[in-house]
Amino acid sequence: MLKVPTFTSKKKYSSIAVMTSGGDAPGMNAAIRSVVRYAIVQGCEVHGILRGYSGLLDEQFIPLEASSVANIIQRGGTILKTDRCEAFYKKATRKKAADILRRRGIEGLVVIGGDGSFTGAYHLESENKFPVIGVPGTIDNDIAKTDDTIGFDTAVSTAIEAIDRIRDTASSHDRTFLVEVMGRSSGHIALQVGMGGGAETVIIPERKQSIQQICETIDRGIRRGKTSSIIVVAEGQEPGLSSRLAKDLAKKGHASKVCILGHTQRGGTPTAHDRVLASVLGASAVAYLLAGKSSAMVGVQDSHVALVPFKDVIGFKKQVSSELLQLSHELAS
Ligand code: ADP
Repeated sequence: MLKVPTFTSKKKYSSIAVMTSGGDAPGMNAAIRSVVRYAIVQGCEVHGILRGYSGLLDEQFIPLEASSVANIIQRGGTILKTDRCEAFYKKATRKKAADILRRRGIEGLVVIGGDGSFTGAYHLESENKFPVIGVPGTIDNDIAKTDDTIGFDTAVSTAIEAIDRIRDTASSHDRTFLVEVMGRSSGHIALQVGMGGGAETVIIPERKQSIQQICETIDRGIRRGKTSSIIVVAEGQEPGLSSRLAKDLAKKGHASKVCILGHTQRGGTPTAHDRVLASVLGASAVAYLLAGKSSAMVGVQDSHVALVPFKDVIGFKKQVSSELLQLSHELAS
């Protein structure tokens, strides 16, 4: 069961800050709410930093009270806004960021974001000895050493809802649909969506398929009496892969329609799962930070909250489950 770690030692800090950084994900607000309320209960004040590292450097700070985070648990996006900040790649900029935090009396930082945001946090901490704990917030679920990330469940649910609708049209018109989902260079979203949506096949970067193989899958379905097919395609580095595949399929005599779900998967009301996950991880981040832990991410391993050093997370990529991939293949055949 997921539970927030408890410590008997006296809390180390009395003023911390929280930010969201990188791509937004549904459930980030629930995480912010949890950080703020849990810290206040521990007797610690909380500052919100707007627009990630950019806002930190521009000193866009706001005080956060328990009431500041009322009525946000159900909202997608992030009330703290988010940004990408080129300047933070420079060591001197990160020193400036640590100086700003210290000058304001802030003693620790919670960063809610993905692998890139954690890389920035790791450097900020190791170069300036400024304590930081990360909370994994990304729809892609590609962060190493955590089974789950905030936003993934919502993005998968949103895409499956879309597939259920598309299936009505696909079956009414006897059509093949290529449905492109997000996930950057990883296929976690596509695989879950494919399984949950009962797709005929899933095209993901981790398992390349030739056009010939895709045609064979469609033909096998036709031989078994299927008149329509749903193929889930992970976008890869560049959105639009499904359109290119559709052209190649057409050359082999298979007409198909393309639906790119795009940013519809990023926003929206977080699922109950993501709200609970965000609440537990947000509070856990504060618990670890106030106990003096730093330079690490709070994650989920085998249904338990785990603290994982940033150095074991950043630059690594979580692999898709080969067992799940095999099962999705078997169930679709
Ligand atoms: P995500 O956190 O969702 O993976 P990005 O990869 O865009 O998103 O990273 C968010 C921000 O984190 C970047 O805009 C930058 O400010 C900071 N960041 C990313 N990588 C590094 C790095 N190698 N060094 C310092 N800061 C980084």
